[in-house]
Amino acid sequence: MSTLAYIGLGANLGDARQTIAAAINKLSHSSGILTLKQAPLYSSDPVDAQGPVFINTVVAIDTTLEPLPLLDLLQAIEQEHGRERPYRNAPRTLDLDLLLYGTLKIETPRLSVPHPRMHQRAFVLRPLQDLAPNLQLLQGSFSSLLAACQEQKLDRLLA
Ligand code: ADP
Ligand code: MG
Repeated sequence: MSTLAYIGLGANLGDARQTIAAAINKLSHSSGILTLKQAPLYSSDPVDAQGPVFINTVVAIDTTLEPLPLLDLLQAIEQEHGRERPYRNAPRTLDLDLLLYGTLKIETPRLSVPHPRMHQRAFVLRPLQDLAPNLQLLQGSFSSLLAACQEQKLDRLLA
């Protein structure tokens, strides 16, 4: 038995496109990940933050991993690929969020699924819609949710 899950990826330090590509490659070759499908890449302006633009995308995976082992894997990939280490506690270059895990709802200190802020973020909604246009989110349709975050600058990147 496997579950269809969606992972949001974001990076804004260093070579962000390369970091995202490396993280997706690592994820796709990890045990317990049966299939992986990637949405197009987008760039977004930082929300409530300064700094370079973010590169974002979403992947759909079929996985035999339970939610917590999947979160462990995402955090291991963040550690492995996502940190530049110019100094101690330097900011992360890579963020991997578990957006959806089938239709499961999880509310624990380590894990909230569906991701509690995904429906307010254009950089999650647009690539998610690219991958799964018929997906029903609890908070509303893609078009109504995207209309509510129209002021968030988002550009689709060429391949
Ligand atoms: P954010 O993604 O909100 O910017 P972090 O990536 O630093 O922040 O995540 C902080 C914590 O969020 C992690 O330690 C993790 O345990 C927790 N967390 C809760 N729900 C989720 C989720 N759905 N996906 C990823 N992390 C989550
Ligand atoms: Mg995160």
